[in-house]
Amino acid sequence: MTNEELWKAVLGEIELSISKANFVTWFRNTGIISCGDGKVVVSVPSIFAREWLENKYNHYILSAIQRHRNDVREVSCVVESAAANAPASSPRPIDVVRPAGAPTVPAPIQPERASLPQGSASPPRPAALLAQRSTSLNPRYTFESFIVGEGNELARAACYAVSQNLGELYNPLFIYGGVGLGKTHLLQAIGNEVVLRSPEKVIKYIHSERFTNELIEAIRHQTMNAFKEAYQKVDVLLIDDVQFLSGREKTQNELFHIFNTLYQINKQIVFTSDRPPQSIPTIEDRLRSRFLGGMMADVSRPNLETRLAILSLKMADKAVQLDLESLRFIAENITTNIRELEGALNRVVASCEFHRTPPSLAFTKKVLGPIVVETRQTVTPETVARTVAEFYHVDPAELMKKTRKKEISHPRQVSMYLIRTELKLPLSAIGRFFGGRDHTTTMHACSKVEKEMEKDERFKEEVSSLKEKMYQDPEK
Ligand code: ADP
Ligand code: MG
Repeated sequence: MTNEELWKAVLGEIELSISKANFVTWFRNTGIISCGDGKVVVSVPSIFAREWLENKYNHYILSAIQRHRNDVREVSCVVESAAANAPASSPRPIDVVRPAGAPTVPAPIQPERASLPQGSASPPRPAALLAQRSTSLNPRYTFESFIVGEGNELARAACYAVSQNLGELYNPLFIYGGVGLGKTHLLQAIGNEVVLRSPEKVIKYIHSERFTNELIEAIRHQTMNAFKEAYQKVDVLLIDDVQFLSGREKTQNELFHIFNTLYQINKQIVFTSDRPPQSIPTIEDRLRSRFLGGMMADVSRPNLETRLAILSLKMADKAVQLDLESLRFIAENITTNIRELEGALNRVVASCEFHRTPPSLAFTKKVLGPIVVETRQTVTPETVARTVAEFYHVDPAELMKKTRKKEISHPRQVSMYLIRTELKLPLSAIGRFFGGRDHTTTMHACSKVEKEMEKDERFKEEVSSLKEKMYQDPEK
């Protein structure tokens, strides 16, 4: 088995165990450089990929390799920017490899300088195919470009299942959740998937405000029959942001009839909304019960890991590639939604270009400072203590007491560390806050936490997720 064959087999297995978007994000343009003495060296295109592969996916990679080469004990990664730079003897990094027999779907987002081998005519990418076909769908919103994480797993799975079983599985499907969390992306991904799978199907994506306006136009120009007929021909109806129909009786009435007609002949209908059907005010009961009659799935805020993955994916087609520290800073500080996350990334990239400054953490902090400070000011030492105490299942009041029991002293030290590093309060003030301790206690706590984080990767992640939680604390 050559290195290339081995890696192909490994990728085939890993692809089955992790989500596609994560797979594409982290394993694109990777390859085996060498394999011998029980060690495998994998080439990766960036330091982010190296970090992720080494920290998150190491055991997947190792156990997949061991199934083919049981002498291998260790896997490490080296950054190799492009296939073109690779020494002639090393295998060409593999683009995305799919299991045998599966249709080839090339990587969704290919930066211009992507390391596709020169001269090889690559098949048109889905995005290109999608762009050729005129629908009201944004060709960038596909399942491939959607990162799956805790908050959106169910919604993504439901949307994907629907795209593969139109009108059969979940009908209607109702996706809801806060702004900027990927509802429109998922809704259009269904449409784009259907365009690729079954080009003959008629897809209609429409925002509910537009639906209302078209209806008003149709009434005014007396073209209601044509309006209705157009909808009756649809195989897949995707209606975005139905909460805007609230209070619009006539529109709701028309939608109700269109819904019934399509539903009876098993046509797929998918809705999105910023809240569940029960909470949409002034919506006709019969329409609400239609919404409730199918499958519902929510999208919620992504966690740190997902945010970082999304940033990496979104950065792939940018002119400037930010450093890992900067990406981490953005992911840790912009926690509200993905649109803002993208906005922050774009802002830093644009500033780098505009000022002709190479990316760095310092520069990113400078650009995003004003936005980040705003969130920071709303977090107080109480917020931190409450978040940490809740996480470790202790009463926050205990942290202020004299006790040195480990169950209490540990969360207390973590709280001190977070207050010091995030809120930048003086050591003595922190000591006072925790029941009148002095500044050396705080100093000791901070250095202890730091040392432990260096030694223990799991603990480091724990602290990072606590940091994230305290900024999201609803009571802050
Ligand atoms: P919503 O409709 O819920 O307000 P959108 O679907 O418009 O949110 O998403 C906002 C932006 O965030 C879009 O650019 C979208 O591509 C991006 N986005 C949201 N969720 C994800 C995800 N899981 N992976 C990649 N991009 C995402
Ligand atoms: Mg939307």
